[in-house]
Amino acid sequence: MRKKQFKAESKKLLDMMINSIYTHKEIFLRELISNASDAIDKLYYRSLSDDTVGLSREDYKIHLSVDKDKRLITISDNGCGMTAEELENNLGTIARSGSLNFKKENEEADDVDIIGQFGVGFYSAFMVSDEVSVTSKAFGQDKAYRWISAGADGYTLEECEKDSHGTVIELHIKPDTDEEKYSEFLDSYRISALVKKYSDYIRYPITMEMETSRKKEGTEDEYETVLEERTLNSMVPLWKKSKSEIKPEEYNAFYKEKFMDYEDPARVIHTKTEGQATYDALLFIPKHAPFDYYTKEYEKGLQLYSNGVLIMDKCADLLPDYYSFVKGLVDSADLSLNISREMLQHDYQLKLISKNIEKKITKELSAMLKNEREAYEEFYKVFGVQLKYGMYANYGANKDTLKDLLLFHSSKEQKYVTLKEYTERMPEGQKSIYYASGETLAKIDLLPQVEAVKDKGYEVLYLTDNVDEFALQMLMNYNEKNFLNVLSDNLDLDTEEEKDSLNKLNEDSDALLKAMKEAIGESVHSVRFTNKLKNHPVCLSSGGAISLEMEKVLNTMPGAGGVKAEVVLEINADHPIAEKLKELFVSDKEKLANYAKILYAEARLIGGMSIENPTELSSLVTDLML
Ligand code: ADP
Repeated sequence: MRKKQFKAESKKLLDMMINSIYTHKEIFLRELISNASDAIDKLYYRSLSDDTVGLSREDYKIHLSVDKDKRLITISDNGCGMTAEELENNLGTIARSGSLNFKKENEEADDVDIIGQFGVGFYSAFMVSDEVSVTSKAFGQDKAYRWISAGADGYTLEECEKDSHGTVIELHIKPDTDEEKYSEFLDSYRISALVKKYSDYIRYPITMEMETSRKKEGTEDEYETVLEERTLNSMVPLWKKSKSEIKPEEYNAFYKEKFMDYEDPARVIHTKTEGQATYDALLFIPKHAPFDYYTKEYEKGLQLYSNGVLIMDKCADLLPDYYSFVKGLVDSADLSLNISREMLQHDYQLKLISKNIEKKITKELSAMLKNEREAYEEFYKVFGVQLKYGMYANYGANKDTLKDLLLFHSSKEQKYVTLKEYTERMPEGQKSIYYASGETLAKIDLLPQVEAVKDKGYEVLYLTDNVDEFALQMLMNYNEKNFLNVLSDNLDLDTEEEKDSLNKLNEDSDALLKAMKEAIGESVHSVRFTNKLKNHPVCLSSGGAISLEMEKVLNTMPGAGGVKAEVVLEINADHPIAEKLKELFVSDKEKLANYAKILYAEARLIGGMSIENPTELSSLVTDLML
């Protein structure tokens, strides 16, 4: 029989595909099962209006079998089948949809979804087979045909015998190579696992003969291995059932099995949405972060199904980064099965769905915060940092979504507080939202400036995460109240009179303060008196937009070295040291210089910073002791 050639473009593409570096060879099974399911769908829909079909829903099935010795996998369906012409047209032409430029473009990528990109699902069979035969009898036809191909060099088509309508696809599995163990696909357990993974929710039963061990009849403890036909797929996806039918345990078990967690999820969100975008979504908020969550190996994303068939395991576009901890899946009939990653990015439906999903998650978290504070705080301890990153990512584009989900430790009762709660309980006269940054809550609590603000009866937010202050800066204000670092030099706690007298003191002491600044050097921007300190002699504050804490964080980042806060050394005007300094300015300028250095070092220590020149400091202090 004469061998027919594939159409020229098809041959080229097929060649490339077979030899491509496509990593997920296992998806051939998903593709062939989906085709079988589509073929049954076609006949099933026809049966709804055509009595001659004479089949009921239960009669349809997809059957798999594996023959290890002959290296054969067989996939049969009793769907609509194909005529000779259809076999030729459907299987003789590939790349219906596409240009062939993909190879050049994607040479670098090692996981290119070529299959999906070109709608060449059937041809994925050649990734694992050295020969494929398709025997098919179209419904209502007398004759059956067999199409056979060993790959890119063409195919044959001949008439054959087949009892009933439908299609039988036989894959002859390639021999193993050093890189590729094709024999794994001849293991019926591997095949059944692949069905579970990719095709669990195909609406028709997918059956296979599986070996099981059974007690031999008439014996006590002798077992024999027998073949038993099993249905491999569960057919009804959990998310397709109505919410009222599903017990919490079912959601939990599903989550744990599918997303490999040992703990129940903290929250389940199950939605069915119809309208502009029609989809079902089943989302889970885990109780704990996966071990790799805060590494760059972690991949966010939701599983994406098209009508019950898995088309992508981690669709990143469905989740914003700040909700990257959410697990789950989306099933939409609006998406085509043969859609590639690149195309998905531009898919309008997908964008709508992802916007919707973001809103659902925000709503769920807000409700949790409102109604189940304790549970929310637990959640926040685990994933709060992610929300804070979200505040300043993309130049703050999402800050309005996120600002009311943030919690901060507060000086009041050392509990978590939201910005809303903080501003609502601000006493009259308080103009700003005060915050202080530090390594630990205890250290922040000891800061002299914190004491000053607390003494006024104001609450202070205690920021212990590096990202905290950046998040607040991005927000700029909340409820028209600005944020103010207690270390900033314009704390604005004084009355007008207090301000006036302090200004006068600073003006009068100008020469003294300049002399002190001179002694300390470049490390400080200026020195001045303050009346915000109660017991402490000194503190540091910062004048510009960069706080001392931000300076610390920024300088740990690569490429950001040299960022400087404008440091001000403040001296408690009511402390005896103030008088001493004035005295020394008149009597002993050298001693004044040494005192200035010591006070600056003290202020650094109190502020949780290290001392710039410890040897100098210790000799200065020792001199004082002698
Ligand atoms: P796609 O499924 O994206 O159309 P495929 O290459 O997987 O691309 O299949 C090509 C066509 O071959 C299908 O559209 C269908 O018409 C036909 N086909 C494939 N498998 C079967 C089958 N088991 N039964 C009937 N027709 C099939």
